[in-house]
Amino acid sequence: RAKEKGGNTFQLYYQEMNHRSLEQLNLENQLRKALDKSEITVFYQPLVDLKTGSITGMESLVRWKHPQGMISPGDFIPLAEETGLILPIGNWVLRESCIQNKKWEEQGLPLLTVSVNISVNQFHQPGFVKYVQQTLSETGLDPHRLCLEITENVAMKNVSYIMDTLSKLKEMGVQVSIDDFGTGYSSLNYLKRFDVDTLKIDQSFIRELTTDEDNEAIVTALIAMSKQLKIKTLAEGVETREQLEFLIAKGCDQIQGYIFSRPIPPEEFALLVTNQQNLFNMN
Ligand code: C2E
Ligand code: MG
Ligand code: MG
Ligand code: MG
Repeated sequence: RAKEKGGNTFQLYYQEMNHRSLEQLNLENQLRKALDKSEITVFYQPLVDLKTGSITGMESLVRWKHPQGMISPGDFIPLAEETGLILPIGNWVLRESCIQNKKWEEQGLPLLTVSVNISVNQFHQPGFVKYVQQTLSETGLDPHRLCLEITENVAMKNVSYIMDTLSKLKEMGVQVSIDDFGTGYSSLNYLKRFDVDTLKIDQSFIRELTTDEDNEAIVTALIAMSKQLKIKTLAEGVETREQLEFLIAKGCDQIQGYIFSRPIPPEEFALLVTNQQNLFNMN
């Protein structure tokens, strides 16, 4: 289209494109080296049980400590997916999360479950189950203390491979949750066929929970349906007291959100869990 408007516009358009792809290439090269330079790191966000009010686990969320500032996964995971770098990065995050959880266990923190995001490509890489198994045995983490978060989009590929992979993981004792539920190509059929432990209700439904009747209906139905299917529910992105009270009233099992804590570095997370313990002990 730019070409039709004349040479100058085309040239500008062309330069712009070139500039952008150079930038992309630059970022890609930097990301390629980031793992070796220990710039890739993990933050943890508590998952809170609504019956006991205590932290039962944490989601590990990758961060890139770029020399020019922290980069959120939303800004480099797509690039990592495109370039295949998601495999070494994702596998590193999985390993690091297991190491960290085991460390906390050895330090005497209450037993926690660490939830790790697994991208579609990572889940479908040959030898994925073996990698999980190896990581667990090398780090010594109890398989029950690991949860893998997959999205509905994982299920779009080879259904028999997914069933097979999930059942192998379940046999090992690893937990599985469906992340961002309701935003992908949801099929209720999958919930029946795939043996998952937890359904994570996407934060887009939680955000306007108490102001949007449709969201209220959807969340209520998801919680009720999950109960019938004996799948636990976790609400993502809980920020307000109203949202929290609504979810408690509906019988949601767990929450995650800024109302309790943002994703924080490991040292801070350990303090949070320890202080929670102290608070309980004092009462
Ligand atoms: P996700 O797995 O759905 O993770 C939850 C995201 O919601 C996190 O964003 C978290 O910081 C944010 N969040 C939690 N509570 C609240 C809240 O109360 N309000 C708001 N506004 N946001 C909240 P984050 O860390 O930026 O991660 C974004 C996404 O990037 C993740 O969404 C996940 O899809 C992806 N991601 C993160 N780490 C990894 C990883 O290690 N591997 C892969 N493949 N993807 C990852
Ligand atoms: Mg997640
Ligand atoms: Mg999520
Ligand atoms: Mg989400």
